[in-house]
Amino acid sequence: MNQNDILFDRACKTSPGGVNSPVRAFRSVGGTPRFIKRAKDAYFWDENDQRYIDYIGSWGPIIVGHAHPVVVKAVQDAAANGLGFGTPTRAEVDMAELLCDMLPGLEQVRLVSSGTEATMSAIRLARGFTGRDLLVKFEGCYHGHSDSLLVKAGSGLLTLGNPSSSGVPVAVSKDTLVLPYNDVDALETLFKEKGNELAAIILEPIAGNMNFVRATPEFMQALRDLCTQYGAVLIIDEVMTGFRVGPQCAQGVYGVTADITTLGKVIGGGMPVAAFGGRADIMAHMAPLGGVYQAGTLSGNPVAVAAGMATLNIVRQDGFYENLRAKTATMLAGFTAAAQAAGVPFSTEMEGGMFGLFFSESAPKSFAEVMASRVDLFPAFFHAMLDEGVYLSPSAFEAGFMSAAHTDDDIAATIEAAKKAFVKIADK
Ligand code: PMP
Repeated sequence: MNQNDILFDRACKTSPGGVNSPVRAFRSVGGTPRFIKRAKDAYFWDENDQRYIDYIGSWGPIIVGHAHPVVVKAVQDAAANGLGFGTPTRAEVDMAELLCDMLPGLEQVRLVSSGTEATMSAIRLARGFTGRDLLVKFEGCYHGHSDSLLVKAGSGLLTLGNPSSSGVPVAVSKDTLVLPYNDVDALETLFKEKGNELAAIILEPIAGNMNFVRATPEFMQALRDLCTQYGAVLIIDEVMTGFRVGPQCAQGVYGVTADITTLGKVIGGGMPVAAFGGRADIMAHMAPLGGVYQAGTLSGNPVAVAAGMATLNIVRQDGFYENLRAKTATMLAGFTAAAQAAGVPFSTEMEGGMFGLFFSESAPKSFAEVMASRVDLFPAFFHAMLDEGVYLSPSAFEAGFMSAAHTDDDIAATIEAAKKAFVKIADK
């Protein structure tokens, strides 16, 4: 009996769509989601004991590989001392110091438990700090599921074909202005009209929730300059890119510093840790010092923080990102050659351990260009790879993630799988 089918059947009876987060459901690629019971290094195994080479990495956090012994030991040691206290702990101080040390521009930080909390709180803080209401986001960027951010968003909303969620009051969404990504002219026009009313601009510096679209350097610089000129808070959402694309996150790649940065995924190493932080004069507006309220029963949880600290201590080691980048580049070069051999329109993008695969001749620079690519080819490609034991994200609109645990053999096997998959979709 196929255990995945049995479990999915059971799951659908007691939870909507059978999942606890929409993209896991395979809705856009078809078929039954795999129920994973165990993972180690670059692999996970489903309930049928089928092994997959994993390129989801828990949607980004697993940068050092699954069940890394150092991370597991740190979690076990922390758990043995109690699962949570609801008091300050030494581990939280250590983590705040480490994050501020690693990322220039982070003068103070607050730990939370999800990326959604981080971005939601960062926006509230920006509004409290500026005394303004308007928020600007970009089409195709996803920043978690708080109300004001579920407007023309990416990730699961895009996968399911409904980029703006229902259930968000008009009174809330009217304060969210949406601009096209990478469009400097549109940005300048908006600032000229409303610059003094803008509380914050939030963006993914490399948008991994509409596949992989990087901001142009000019766009990043224009954002920085205009926010400074008009007193709007620049929130760089590094929940996905943070310590994933490089040692100083995407801000290190661009040489642009946020007023507030949001972090998640890698800083929790697979456990629920996220953060927002930045300029001390802005952070001073947070309760208990200032009037912007935010709190969390599980914030800074000692077991979760232990996983995050252990992970960060590994990524800080010399050569970590060079190694990760080399693995990603090798794999993508293999994919590109395989696609060419099969005559499939294909291009790739990458930074550090994050990558995008596109069925188009060149990599898209905007949401519109992503949508113009052959996303219709993705489901067949995804399933062809899955049949070969390679687990990509089950959506054409999500980035992929390499880990330090992927070996040369894993990458070679992935390329072999891709050769077969491209041939399978070549006549579609
Ligand atoms: N921001 C970005 C850029 C993200 O990629 C995500 C999650 N994929 C979030 C925010 C939300 O994080 P979480 O799922 O932990 O709430």
